[in-house]
Amino acid sequence: MPPFSPGVRSFFRAFGARPKAELHLHLEGAIAPSTLVRLARRFREPLFPDLASVRARQGAGDFRDFLALYRDVCRCLKAPADYAAVARDLVRRLSRENITYAEVYVSPAVIERIGLDWAAVRSAIEPVFLGFERASGRRIVVLLDSVRQWGPEAANRVLELHEGSPWPRVAGFGLGGDESSVPAGEFRGVFDRVRRLSLAPLVHAGEWGGAESVAAALDDLGPARIAHGFRAAEDPSVVAALVRLRTPLDICPTSNSATRALLPGERHPVLELLRAGVRVSLSTDDPGLFRTTLRKEFLAVARLGATARELEALLSNGFRGALRPGRQAARTRS
Ligand SMILES: [Zn+2]
Repeated sequence: MPPFSPGVRSFFRAFGARPKAELHLHLEGAIAPSTLVRLARRFREPLFPDLASVRARQGAGDFRDFLALYRDVCRCLKAPADYAAVARDLVRRLSRENITYAEVYVSPAVIERIGLDWAAVRSAIEPVFLGFERASGRRIVVLLDSVRQWGPEAANRVLELHEGSPWPRVAGFGLGGDESSVPAGEFRGVFDRVRRLSLAPLVHAGEWGGAESVAAALDDLGPARIAHGFRAAEDPSVVAALVRLRTPLDICPTSNSATRALLPGERHPVLELLRAGVRVSLSTDDPGLFRTTLRKEFLAVARLGATARELEALLSNGFRGALRPGRQAARTRS
């Protein structure tokens, strides 16, 4: 790897102080290892007895291992107060990295599956987010999400919860989970409802599925943004569609490597997508589980050969792709 150019080096020197936006973060995945150990210790046989047991599973294995880790994290969340603890981890992380605008996936479908009451969890999280915003002038927007393999019914249940008692902080609805499980087309009705509720439609695609999964998401669901989507690079016509429709991708290089969505030795196409004119921004996805930071994501792309100008574009695309950027959009420079 050649040494970074002076421009790239100065980009990273200023990086910490620069206001940043992050658009692809899952609340449970932002848990700090120390919190995980503390919550797990309440079990007779803790899933995570110490920090070493967490470290051993962070970013190790493949997608199945990641899903198992995610499930085990969720098993440690036994009460709304536990979600508040994770929310505190998340805002500390945002402060540390000077992320001034974040969009965070919160999953009522997962919370109900755990056996917790959605309204109670939401009431536990909200004061943490609000306190953080008031103290820092930063902004957190919530994206509700559902799990694709649980089907349209589970997704409709999430929308029902929102309809019954809208949370003003919510700006979008996303579909995550196993891309190969239920075809995008089966969620058409769900996404029509999403639009009727004035929520931005979002979808995870092109992570495990190929370019065709991105094409199906575009054709069937008309998303405002696609989470991951990097497999679009396999088909120039899908890349052209992303450019034409101006559909941003929020790409998480460390996550893609850690889950083996990107094969070992394979080059990440994030720069090729950016150079083709796709609005790419960078995110951490599940920073607590992948042991990453936004800085590490930018460093990963710099190592692929990004110029300082391209790194700047990735940084400002975070604000350009934001659903409710407000005044934060103007603050891309410190
Ligand atoms: Zn994700």
